[in-house]
Amino acid sequence: MIPYGRQEITQQDIDAVVDVLKSDFLTQGPVVPEFEQRVASHVGAVFGLAVNSATSALHIACAAAGLKPGDWLWTSPVTFVASANCGLYCGAKVDFVDIDPHTYNMCPNALERKLQHAEALGRLPKIVVPVHLCGQPCDMARIKSLADRYGFRIIEDASHAIGGKHCDDFIGSCRFSDVTVFSFHPVKIITTGEGGMAVTNDPDLAGRMELLRSHGITRDPMRMTHEPDGPWYYQQVELGFNYRMTELQAALGVSQMTRLDDFVKRRHELARRYDELLADLPVVTPWQHPDSYSGLHLYVIRLKLAETRASHREVFESLRVQGIGVNLHYIPVHTQPYYSAMGFAPEDFPEAMRYYNEAISIPMYHGLTFEQQNVVAAALQKALAA
Ligand SMILES: *Cc1c(COP(=O)(O)O)cnc(C)c1O
Repeated sequence: MIPYGRQEITQQDIDAVVDVLKSDFLTQGPVVPEFEQRVASHVGAVFGLAVNSATSALHIACAAAGLKPGDWLWTSPVTFVASANCGLYCGAKVDFVDIDPHTYNMCPNALERKLQHAEALGRLPKIVVPVHLCGQPCDMARIKSLADRYGFRIIEDASHAIGGKHCDDFIGSCRFSDVTVFSFHPVKIITTGEGGMAVTNDPDLAGRMELLRSHGITRDPMRMTHEPDGPWYYQQVELGFNYRMTELQAALGVSQMTRLDDFVKRRHELARRYDELLADLPVVTPWQHPDSYSGLHLYVIRLKLAETRASHREVFESLRVQGIGVNLHYIPVHTQPYYSAMGFAPEDFPEAMRYYNEAISIPMYHGLTFEQQNVVAAALQKALAA
């Protein structure tokens, strides 16, 4: 089976993790801050807060931004459930903004219309979470101008997008957002096994996220309600969580960061090659923004069903039978039973449903070979001809 995505681990990565195993600290040592510094400086942000997953990063970013019961969080319906669940963790309500049919990201026009409507109803969102789907940057300048007008905060879910750029800004510069979140799950662009990071330029948000990732406990006298009782002293000043990243994970992350640019470059090489291999098949290949450099976490094709006899499901099943580990990113979140129970109907977000009925993620990862790409293309041709 050729998987749709997989990690790449070298001897350098293994040595880095083994070094930590032999060191004094398995957690809360020097390597986590080193990894935070590496990522933040690479993407051009001031602060990096490493945590045990992107899901945790989204949660503490929302909490640090003050999301609370009665507030609204809006995101894209075409994303992993975590982009929406972070709002529910804070007791807020969640709503969605339909996608743009070309970028598959939250549509800025749909966002603007929904904001106008919400303003009239007095239920504007406190936080909007744009998701850079497949690594393709959202139109952040436009979303930021809407944020300035309607007063919401922006948390970028860049789980697919580390290493990508819009114009000269790396995703994560937070030029148009409050916080950007990355995931280091093994299928993502770089990995720490499990892991995530929130980056920000806002010292207040950074300080609050730092507290929240570790029980709300501080050892900084400046944050305490009174002078420390003694050198042993710490205070819990918030209700936080244990979302810390281990030194082992951070060591893997530091080592992977040295190859980030290569990883993304290779993904672009593979994408260009797929574009050519699939050009004559009845599929839509991923649109690329001319001013952007996608992280290319995923390569999603859409079937032109009017030009094929096979159904979406038949093509998908045929590819799996032929040993291609295709996937579908994502089942629109609003159709998940947990969300439909809140009153969402599939047709509330028609572009998301159209996408869901046609999309297939084909293999895309650093170690994929040209020969394997040929096998994927041949299998797809066969599946579509069925
Ligand atoms: C993977 C992913 C997440 C969650 O990442 P974890 O590190 O597994 O918690 C969130 N959002 C998107 C868009 C993702 O792809």
